[in-house]
Amino acid sequence: MKKETKKRLYRALSAAVGAALCLSFFVIPDKSFNINATSASIEQKKDKIKELEERNKQIENSIASLENDIDQSEKKQELYLQKLNAIQEQLDNYNNLLYYMEEDIAAKQANIEALNLQISAKEDDIAQKESKIERLNAENEENLERFGDILHAMYVTENADIFSVLAESADFYDLLVRTKMMINVSKQNDDMMQQLKESIENTEKIKKQLENDKTDLESSRLNVISEKEALENNKSELTVKQKEASQLSSEYSNAYSQYSQEINDIVNKQEELQKEKKANAAEIAAYQQQIDREIQLAQKDSNQVYQEGEWIWPLETQFTMITTYFGYDDWRGGNHSGIDISGGGIYGHPIYASKAGTVIIAKTTYIEGYSYGKYVVIDHGDGYSTLYGHCSDIYVSVGQQVEQGEAVAAVGSTGWSTGPHLHFEVRVNNIPQNPFDYVKKFW
Ligand SMILES: [Zn+2]
Repeated sequence: MKKETKKRLYRALSAAVGAALCLSFFVIPDKSFNINATSASIEQKKDKIKELEERNKQIENSIASLENDIDQSEKKQELYLQKLNAIQEQLDNYNNLLYYMEEDIAAKQANIEALNLQISAKEDDIAQKESKIERLNAENEENLERFGDILHAMYVTENADIFSVLAESADFYDLLVRTKMMINVSKQNDDMMQQLKESIENTEKIKKQLENDKTDLESSRLNVISEKEALENNKSELTVKQKEASQLSSEYSNAYSQYSQEINDIVNKQEELQKEKKANAAEIAAYQQQIDREIQLAQKDSNQVYQEGEWIWPLETQFTMITTYFGYDDWRGGNHSGIDISGGGIYGHPIYASKAGTVIIAKTTYIEGYSYGKYVVIDHGDGYSTLYGHCSDIYVSVGQQVEQGEAVAAVGSTGWSTGPHLHFEVRVNNIPQNPFDYVKKFW
């Protein structure tokens, strides 16, 4: 067994503290190296880290809450989109109907104009017939007058009476001549008058027909006009609806754009917060690096000699950041019974048995904020044991044999812990020792 002297020293020092400290964090002071010189500066940095971590937690909450706002805005926006689609469909319908109505109205208008032309053509015809009738009547009148004049010219001297004319005949021959002449004149006149009469009747008939046609056309025109008016009424009703739909459409469209803008603003806010979070994380990493460097410097001054070979580092070798050393700790205001090992992304990483042995404690129940949380203790024989605290998961059970380097647990932050780290102890006869007296320092 190596390091007998040191072990005896610890045993002697710890006698005063007693067995009650077995599960305590606070044990004998270890002044084998001095980190007090740097501890004030380290504590300041730890406080800064804590502040930044709290701020990042707030930021995460804000981002989640903003995500919720986005969801709600998107739901509202979706509703407006549905409304917009529905009203747009209706609007398209109205526009189609209006288009066809306008075509119908234009067709009716063309019909009315055609009828107007036909009516005015009929009116021209009627006027022609009227003037023809007038002319024929005048001709008739003229004929009658001319016949009278002839008779008059023949007999104007005495009687205008035909019987007087006949009675004045000098003899039968004269009578015959006179009678024949009269008959001729009368017959000629009668024929002419008969012709005129027929012509007038004919013309009157045609005129009557034309007037009937005109009346028909006018009633057709009235029908078309009232159809057109009905269409125009429908059109103006539809135009009102179309305007309302158009108004709604632009309202919904505006609401939709407003939500887009709102969502955009929220996303921008989230991005700003993400940036801040990233910057904070970088700052945290920088502080941790500084702490690590200060601790390493302190270690260098301690002139520690580490035992080779027998004990192994209980974590993957990228995790070498010591956040609290064994011994007196300012921040805790007491003694620290082991070393706290941390590093970026350490949570969940395996914890290895530093030496082969038997699991004697595998505690999976714990009280938040107290003690070691979930932890494992391995008995290595000859009074040696190791403890692995604040685990997130335990892989072994009591009585189990474990090999050196076997994963026994996962790094966590259970119990009295402010962030993921491994609290590692080496005990001799249940008295905590400085682990750096046993594990190899490899960095
Ligand atoms: Zn600790």
